[in-house]
Amino acid sequence: MSELQSVDAALARLLAAVSPLTDTEAVSTFDALGRVLAVDVSSALDVPPADNTGMDGYALCAADVAALGTVLPVAQRVPAGVVGAAHLPGTATRIFTGAQIPVGADAVVMQEECTAIANPAGEGFGAVQINTAVQPGQWIRRRGEDVQRGAVVLAAGARLSAPALGLAASVGAGSVTVTRRPKVALFSTGDELQMPGEVLRPGAIYNSNRFLLRGLLQGLGCEVIDLGIVEDKLAATRAALRSAAGQADLILTCGGVSVGEEDHLRPAVEAEGRLDLWQIAIKPGKPLAFGKVQDAWFIGLPGNPVSSLVTFLMLVRPVLLRLQGATALTPRRFRLRADFDWKKPDRRREFLRARINAAGALELFPNQGSGVLTSAVWCDGLVDNPAGQAIAAGDTVDFIPMNELLT
Ligand code: AMP
Ligand code: MG
Repeated sequence: MSELQSVDAALARLLAAVSPLTDTEAVSTFDALGRVLAVDVSSALDVPPADNTGMDGYALCAADVAALGTVLPVAQRVPAGVVGAAHLPGTATRIFTGAQIPVGADAVVMQEECTAIANPAGEGFGAVQINTAVQPGQWIRRRGEDVQRGAVVLAAGARLSAPALGLAASVGAGSVTVTRRPKVALFSTGDELQMPGEVLRPGAIYNSNRFLLRGLLQGLGCEVIDLGIVEDKLAATRAALRSAAGQADLILTCGGVSVGEEDHLRPAVEAEGRLDLWQIAIKPGKPLAFGKVQDAWFIGLPGNPVSSLVTFLMLVRPVLLRLQGATALTPRRFRLRADFDWKKPDRRREFLRARINAAGALELFPNQGSGVLTSAVWCDGLVDNPAGQAIAAGDTVDFIPMNELLT
């Protein structure tokens, strides 16, 4: 058997080969979910822009409440969005969550700790009895406590999550500058493949990888050029490659990279460009084709669905993030207890589909076969098990949550 290369070595080669896309675009913050910032987002203002109340209640001077049960006349009423008059010592300001603290007040008492006293004549704002001790500063959200003016709130290279979009909006960024989406041409090979919705011919299976890989690409901010299923014929495969290369930054395929005689992908890529076939020490997975067709990179994934998934997550995902200039390329991992035995480890590094049980430890999907896509839906993540490493229940293992990988 030919020499296997490690996952890390293969990834380092892939990352060294591709360089980030240089085109950027300004997009509305509304539409920027999942995109990678090309330029820092910094704040031209303090957030919050002014001291404001975190509670509905009464703003006052703490020193005016010498004893429990102090009664103060209510001088004004300040709802959120309204700036009140300067606070008069010896009075209370009726105030509502988010409203600016009037100049001169130094604390807020929540309304649950007060008794409102109406004016007998029904006029004005009445008075309020304070039924609690008051500390200066209580319930005041300080100007700039979230973001200070001039601060970089999101750095170039950050991927924009929903909270990140919220933060960008909170500093007033109506648009953000991001790297353009990588264009990825996707096709599947294999005459056994049919589309869901069709009646299955004898010997055929449905093309699950088209949906799997398309979804993964979309989740990573790519523009997918979906070229469907390409016949297991050399001429058809070459034509698909030429068409893909004319439109895409990366051509991604699945199937046809083992060395079976029905596998035309390899000679087709060799004829249209150049190709290396790598044997990688990864399970599920192993064969991975990497090359170039015209100006487009080519990556050929193995056909078995879980192999496609795992090789994509470990090797293609970082490449797509790097193309977009993302700084974080590797998923976070956590150390968790195994509640299972794994007695016959492979000589390749293995990614096992596992779930976190009620005890906070890991259990394995019973069938770890590379064609068993059920395992990938069932699991919470992947146990990253070093080559040749047996696992006994109680051991601590590396676990990569699926939600670190799928976006
Ligand atoms: P191959 O890599 O082409 O030798 O395929 C390996 C295995 O994966 C075979 O059992 C194929 O039928 C299966 N396979 C290949 N492509 C797909 C696909 N797009 N969807 C589901 N299974 C596939
Ligand atoms: Mg095939």
